[in-house]
Amino acid sequence: MDFNDTPDLASFRQDVKTWLDANAERRTDKLHMGMEGEQAFQEAKAWYKKKADAGYACLTWPKDYGGAGLTPLHEVVWTQEVEHFKTRDAHFVIGIGNCGPAILHFAEEEQKRELLPRMASAEDVWCQLFSEPSAGSDVAGLRTRAEKNGDDWTLNGQKIWTSGAQYSDYGVVLTRTDPTVSKYRGLTLFMIDMRQPGVEVRPIKQMDGGQHFNEVFFHDAVVPDSYRLGDVGGGWTGALTILMSERLAISGVQPTGFPQFLDLVKSLELDGEPIANDPIVRDRLASWYSQYAGLQALYKRMLTAVAKGGIAGAEASMGKLVGAVMNQEIANFTCQLFGPAGIILDPEISPERAHFEEQVLFSPGVRLAGGTDEVMRNILAEQVLGLPQEPRADKGIAFQDIPTGPS
Ligand SMILES: Cc1cc2nc3c(=O)[nH]c(=O)nc-3n(C[C@H](O)[C@H](O)[C@H](O)COP(=O)(O)OP(=O)(O)OC[C@H]3O[C@@H](n4cnc5c(N)ncnc54)[C@H](O)[C@@H]3O)c2cc1C
Repeated sequence: MDFNDTPDLASFRQDVKTWLDANAERRTDKLHMGMEGEQAFQEAKAWYKKKADAGYACLTWPKDYGGAGLTPLHEVVWTQEVEHFKTRDAHFVIGIGNCGPAILHFAEEEQKRELLPRMASAEDVWCQLFSEPSAGSDVAGLRTRAEKNGDDWTLNGQKIWTSGAQYSDYGVVLTRTDPTVSKYRGLTLFMIDMRQPGVEVRPIKQMDGGQHFNEVFFHDAVVPDSYRLGDVGGGWTGALTILMSERLAISGVQPTGFPQFLDLVKSLELDGEPIANDPIVRDRLASWYSQYAGLQALYKRMLTAVAKGGIAGAEASMGKLVGAVMNQEIANFTCQLFGPAGIILDPEISPERAHFEEQVLFSPGVRLAGGTDEVMRNILAEQVLGLPQEPRADKGIAFQDIPTGPS
């Protein structure tokens, strides 16, 4: 990729810089900004609305659907400039990054015009309802049923780990509509109004004190057929679109911990000596720097592929795997460096310590969300290294005939 801006991109970059300087707060540190709490959520919505009003939301979506009608390269420029500012986009990544592309691709024109502009301006927040208690890595093994009743569908079942469901107005939900065919063929994807009767959201409390995700129960929840995404029985194709978009969206925002670690190494002392002089710290710094630089290069390679009309391939899985492991290792190592003060979780007392302690508690989840380490390794083994596929014992068997444990 040629990383020099064309005249058009250079002018866009200048506009973005000017607008951000006038409308966003410059980052004085690189510490993580949480997404918890009603106040944070309202601030995030206000920020996103301002960004949308200025024409900087959903840069690559068509204008008819609330986007800016620009190219993926404009998106790259925006990403490069916005990282120097404090922004609050995390609540909208799942909707805009994951659900939006599937709606653009599979929804009817009327639904696109009705729903996408409100998603693009963060007026409506969306969540992704795939995982179930017995269907995570093997998401196609899900059991939430959708049954046709006239022009509507009736949903019953349970989802789990649904990020942001407590804030969401709508969700994209993957259901089983036909248990008599193999598990991938009997799935159908719908959009659902999360505020309607029959949808119950129960927050899950995490060990870091936050409530990032939820259980969601459907009790005879009714969805009109016009809210179906794609063909009946074609849900797996739509789900793959969402999962691929998810890995790309995650790659842009997934924490690696490295910039924060570097800042810390520059400023912290241990026994009266800068920790940058400590051989173990230097060894870790060199190792994580090389991984971080590799991840940056991988991300650019992926953006290049997307800018040329391709898709995020196995680079996204590699970035997810390496970045998530490194983030957890950095958090654990840093808390050991802090000694007993490493357990401080209150940013008012010490923002650095609180940041790394929070990461100790949350980073294991990053290794699971969007596909676990092992699932990423399976993808890389099969798609990059060309190793034989895992044995799939349920291949070709109707979903209802797959043996299960006692119920
Ligand atoms: C922070 C966070 C946010 C999330 N947000 C959402 C969301 O918004 N929407 C949503 O639908 N889901 C969400 N999830 C759920 C996430 O997608 C699942 O947790 C993930 O896919 C793993 O599924 P599971 O938890 O059921 O684990 P399981 O699939 O039961 O896995 C258990 C263990 O077995 C291993 N394993 C499973 N299959 C294989 C295999 N074939 N080969 C080797 N090892 C294997 C796994 O790697 C793991 O170590 C979120 C999860 C987290 C942690």
